[in-house]
Amino acid sequence: MPFISDIEAVQTKALDYIIVGGGAAGCVLAARLTENSACSVLLIESGGHRTHPLIRVPTGVGMIWKKRLFDWDLNSDETPGLNNRSIELMRGKLLGGSSAINAMSHVRGAPADYDHWQDIGCDGWSYDKVAPYFQKTERWTGQPNKHRGTKGPVTVSPAQSDDPLYDAWMAAAKSCGHTALDDYNALSSGDILAGFARSQQTIDDGFRATAWTAYLKPHQKRQNLHILANTHVARIKFAKGRAHALELVCSLTNKTTGLDVTGTLILSAGAFHTPHLLMQSGIGPEAVLKRANIPLLVNASGVGRNYRDHLAVQINFQRRGKGPFHRQMRLDRVLRNFPRAALFGTGPATRLPGAMHGFAKLTPDAKLPDLQFLFRGAPRHAAPWWPLLSNGYQDGFGIRPVLLHPTSRGKIEPVSNNPMAPPRISGNYLDTTEDMDRLLDGIDIALALADSPAMEPFRDTKNSPLPDGRNARTAWIRQTAVTAHHPCGTCRMGPDDDAPLSPDLRLKGFDNIVVVDASIFPHTISGNINACVYMIAEKTASHLSGQNLSAR
Ligand SMILES: Cc1cc2nc3c(=O)[nH]c(=O)nc-3n(C[C@H](O)[C@H](O)[C@H](O)COP(=O)(O)OP(=O)(O)OC[C@H]3O[C@@H](n4cnc5c(N)ncnc54)[C@H](O)[C@@H]3O)c2cc1C
Repeated sequence: MPFISDIEAVQTKALDYIIVGGGAAGCVLAARLTENSACSVLLIESGGHRTHPLIRVPTGVGMIWKKRLFDWDLNSDETPGLNNRSIELMRGKLLGGSSAINAMSHVRGAPADYDHWQDIGCDGWSYDKVAPYFQKTERWTGQPNKHRGTKGPVTVSPAQSDDPLYDAWMAAAKSCGHTALDDYNALSSGDILAGFARSQQTIDDGFRATAWTAYLKPHQKRQNLHILANTHVARIKFAKGRAHALELVCSLTNKTTGLDVTGTLILSAGAFHTPHLLMQSGIGPEAVLKRANIPLLVNASGVGRNYRDHLAVQINFQRRGKGPFHRQMRLDRVLRNFPRAALFGTGPATRLPGAMHGFAKLTPDAKLPDLQFLFRGAPRHAAPWWPLLSNGYQDGFGIRPVLLHPTSRGKIEPVSNNPMAPPRISGNYLDTTEDMDRLLDGIDIALALADSPAMEPFRDTKNSPLPDGRNARTAWIRQTAVTAHHPCGTCRMGPDDDAPLSPDLRLKGFDNIVVVDASIFPHTISGNINACVYMIAEKTASHLSGQNLSAR
């Protein structure tokens, strides 16, 4: 069935809100706004309603990525800073959006990220102001403390991996002078995010918690909630300074239809598709629209600009002996453990082989960490094996330095006036010397950890997996860097004229369009961004409902 609600029924309703995009932000907004039974909401999602076990089972994420399932299949332009490579840019195309295919790490970022947003003129976004909305999101199952929410819809749990590798990484971090953190999300304004800790994951009783399962699924029967899945919003039509209609295309049949906008239109199509939709509708930089043969409605120079992402490199080591994840990949165990996890949410397939996060500053007086470190307890080539045929793959582990605050900026542009064609994504990654220098420093920090005596029992060889020397390492980075999948900033808020949105997330010049997703970030944050997107959507839903929260 193409539609969960049918389009004809929805066309006759006077809707208070239409939300474009049923991803991380869209599901939060639809759930919160429909708490008021007098408020009617339509959520429109290009992708489908998927309940696949690979989504439910946390370790299913490996296969989702390998086969690029539930994905928009976007790739970057060939990028000079990456030896002219084009890199994959996965994005979820289903209810739940990218939260349904992500790595499940739950990181708020640093308090100073949000205080900086406030300082540059984004009123209302200081850490003190946003912290209550992080709390509202969370059901934290770890050690309770005054900073964490315990009654929210999104279950957040400490990583469950029992691999001794992680205690060794932690010992290595301490021996290299890094702080051991209990809870990197329990910070107040003024606290610095720096140190290493067990990671926190959006896993609920053994199942992945997505924006759909956590926020909307429990309320999908609300009379005031309507959901059109498999429906792509192709263009917005305007009249008298307002969005007044949408052009919809059924993703399954390609049939086009129209829908009136009677209330507020909320764009939550994500950092690539929100600016693309605006530009297809005539709002964007004049020259860009002209090149794509799109009639200009408003010359909005900031739409599709300021694209930022977290670039990372993966350093891999061969492991001495076999770790617990390798043992679980024996075929008979996979065949037993995967269905067990899918049905009951128990067993090894519910435990991700990545259980630590680290944050490091490069200068002592910095307020923000420059680098994040992600850890993998399994090699990329991990695959089921069977003892009669072999002892399985060579086990391994890895550490991934992530450049948190790149100075390089990219852009999103339409390639033509066909709204169904994917946007051109020019990341411009690693364009500045500063970005490259910081990533090189990140490699030094990572290798120092790996060379620590605590890691000796796990390393097959003491030989470095990387070439020596700055030039050789720079070349290696350009040849191997990938995205950590945190695109943002492409329709940013700000007080300056170039910013498409005002700090209350309204599209400047239009009184019934609000943008709520990762595209609104004025600057990126110090960590994975899904929790931040939830916070933004929670805060905006409260604001639209007239119920602002204040800090506890
Ligand atoms: C592989 C991967 C790993 C990641 N790992 C992590 C992690 O571990 N931790 C973390 O915090 N973050 C992670 N992220 C990032 C995080 O998941 C996203 O940044 C976040 O979910 C973005 O939320 P959003 O609402 O902005 O966009 P999305 O969740 O992507 O939602 C946008 C939705 O809009 C729909 N849509 C797009 N265009 C249209 C249209 N024209 N009409 C109708 N619908 C439309 C899309 O199908 C999608 O469902 C990861 C992301 C990926 C892809």
